[in-house]
Amino acid sequence: MSLRIVVTVKYVPDATGDRHFAKDLTVDRDDVDGLLSELDEYAVEQALQIAENADDAEVTVLTVGPEDAKDALRKALSMGADKAIHVEDDDLHGTDVMGTSLVLAKAIEKAGYDLVISGMASTDGTAGVVPALLAERLGVPQVTLLSEVSVEDGVVTGRRDGDTASEQLEAQLPAVVSVTDQSGEARYPSFKGIMAAKKKPVQAWDLSDLDIEAEEVGLEGAWTKVDSATERPARTAGTIVTDEGEGGKQLAEFLASQKFI
Ligand SMILES: Cc1cc2nc3c(=O)[nH]c(=O)nc-3n(C[C@H](O)[C@H](O)[C@H](O)COP(=O)(O)OP(=O)(O)OC[C@H]3O[C@@H](n4cnc5c(N)ncnc54)[C@H](O)[C@@H]3O)c2cc1C
Repeated sequence: MSLRIVVTVKYVPDATGDRHFAKDLTVDRDDVDGLLSELDEYAVEQALQIAENADDAEVTVLTVGPEDAKDALRKALSMGADKAIHVEDDDLHGTDVMGTSLVLAKAIEKAGYDLVISGMASTDGTAGVVPALLAERLGVPQVTLLSEVSVEDGVVTGRRDGDTASEQLEAQLPAVVSVTDQSGEARYPSFKGIMAAKKKPVQAWDLSDLDIEAEEVGLEGAWTKVDSATERPARTAGTIVTDEGEGGKQLAEFLASQKFI
């Protein structure tokens, strides 16, 4: 039977763009270009490698996000994923980690899965908790933060590198794993891959398709509330010291004044 791999991929605001908060203190997503979260490219790569080593496997990429999030799906499809699911609904505006994990879990259940692969964290929210929440909601084992992962005979195995030790972990499928940026370089989409992606199926679901009520998500359903948000001041040019024999002394004085030494 085919190994069904679902990869959760997030469409995030481009970190190099000019990002702002909207009036309700959510990120103003309309105002900035987005892209597939770089950390999720590693998850797609590992899914493709597992699929390539399996007799029969299918990789589905899943995103919860606005209309433009299709760009993230297209990128993952052009890397080699087989099909995509896009969950989009106006009522998702302001959804926090709890709501996001609920929507993802319902979509994963509806799609059917043996293995879920997530990134270690998104590059915008960086909460790093969605994979664990997914495992809890799905009622399956979680093996997170893997820098190496493989699947054999219905068991997922991986290595988690800590500061003082590396652990070898395994779990019976179905399971949720997350992979780190050390898991292996993500491939670039080839021209052939980009052309093929245009013909691959992208399924669109909204909240009603997943039997989720509007109150369970959005700002209303969020477990957390942002009370205030202050944009950081723009970076200043800093101090330039011209070394006329006293440069080292001035540098040491600067570091001492900032309590670095
Ligand atoms: C339209 C919209 C509006 C939102 N508004 C807010 C808001 O106002 N306030 C707020 O706190 N949150 C909001 N969110 C949710 C937020 O952007 C995050 O998706 C969510 O809080 C998860 O946090 P994180 O990205 O830090 O997850 P992490 O736990 O850091 O993510 C880990 C991994 O989980 C997966 N993942 C996470 N999010 C998604 C996703 N959306 N789709 C697919 N895979 C995913 C990825 O594989 C990722 O690498 C909104 C989401 C959407 C879609």
